[in-house]
Amino acid sequence: MTQKYADGKFGEYGGQYVPEVLMPAIEELTDAYERYVLENEDGFMDEFRARLRDFGGRPTPTQYAERLSERYDREVYLKREDLLHGGAHKLNNALGQVLLAKYMGKERIVAETGAGQHGTATAMAAAHLDMPCEIYMGERDINRQRPNVFRMRLNGSAVNPVTTGRGTLKEAISETMRDWATNVEDTHYVIGSIVGPHPFPAMVRDFQAVISEEARRQLDEQTGGLPDAVLACAGGGSNTMGTFANFVDDDGVELYAVEAGGSSLEVDEEEGVAPNSASLSTGEEGVLHGARTKVLQDSDGQIMESHSVSAGLDYAGVGPELARLVDDGRVQAVNVGDVSALEGFHRLSQLEGIIPALETAHAFGYLEEHSEELGETIVVNVSGRGDKDLETVIEETEKRDIENAPSMAEFSGGI
Ligand SMILES: *Cc1c(COP(=O)(O)O)cnc(C)c1O
Repeated sequence: MTQKYADGKFGEYGGQYVPEVLMPAIEELTDAYERYVLENEDGFMDEFRARLRDFGGRPTPTQYAERLSERYDREVYLKREDLLHGGAHKLNNALGQVLLAKYMGKERIVAETGAGQHGTATAMAAAHLDMPCEIYMGERDINRQRPNVFRMRLNGSAVNPVTTGRGTLKEAISETMRDWATNVEDTHYVIGSIVGPHPFPAMVRDFQAVISEEARRQLDEQTGGLPDAVLACAGGGSNTMGTFANFVDDDGVELYAVEAGGSSLEVDEEEGVAPNSASLSTGEEGVLHGARTKVLQDSDGQIMESHSVSAGLDYAGVGPELARLVDDGRVQAVNVGDVSALEGFHRLSQLEGIIPALETAHAFGYLEEHSEELGETIVVNVSGRGDKDLETVIEETEKRDIENAPSMAEFSGGI
């Protein structure tokens, strides 16, 4: 378990940029994080790990990928977070935070969700631990993500539509913050990535670090050593930091955070929209959701809307720790566009029998384009499975005429 940066500052990044009313809650949470997570008070981490095992299905395998290894003439290993309960790495964090809320004596959970993945993970954890839970979700997202709305409600959570602004993730976060500020006494806010004010970035990293703790051990068991390169896709950056955490001190291991290059890295300022979500590669220092970090913004410092074909990477900021590690040269910030990700999606499905999340597919797009630069042994984190993305993939595959895809046209009418 890494305990670095316990003060919440990652160089100039991080910090606690929150309204005064939230400071008592932030201080209470920081105290709980230090006692229960860092010091394992009352056996918190033991219970967390036991629940990850029995409810979550951990450990997930680190699997040798035969056909990818053959294709690239490298040894490629897959960390299978797609096999975690719920189909993505998000449960590691949601379960950790809901359990922590219980230890803190909180009686109610709130969370925000964009595409619905973090909301469903939080709803599952809340049902498992018998905590009432309310999820804020933009109205537009609710209409785009019906199945996830039903999943949350099936697990007993209330889904509160947010109608302000464009009705997406940004407004949902503001609304959840407002709820938390009003109900700090009995409520915990489960943030979905390594973003937000301290202690969230460090705490979410520690809950996700189980990924690299297992991967390091499992790879050593199979190869007797460390990998040369570790790849993970980066939205807010929680699966990335979880996959990197236990390799950061190994100088020989190159770490690659693969961002969504979207349709272009060029920004049209007039539009106020970045056609990508590559905040590590193209963002500037700014404050977003309570932390100083790299943010997509225009020359006046206005936060821009981001874009990616994958909803889970579509975020204008990124975790402050990742921003710092990139500035330090420890993590390479790279990106691939929508088309490369879609091709990666089909390649992994065809070669390995694993349908990945569109977020994850970005890492495989990068592997395809740069395998010869990545050394002999490569670990790729499969952050989630792609069942949730089938409709998008069918639509986008047709629209863009993706080369390595099976013909979708003849089936799409019936779906
Ligand atoms: C949410 C999500 C991501 C992006 O979130 P991070 O915090 O960057 O990990 C990546 N992959 C999957 C499968 C997701 O659901």
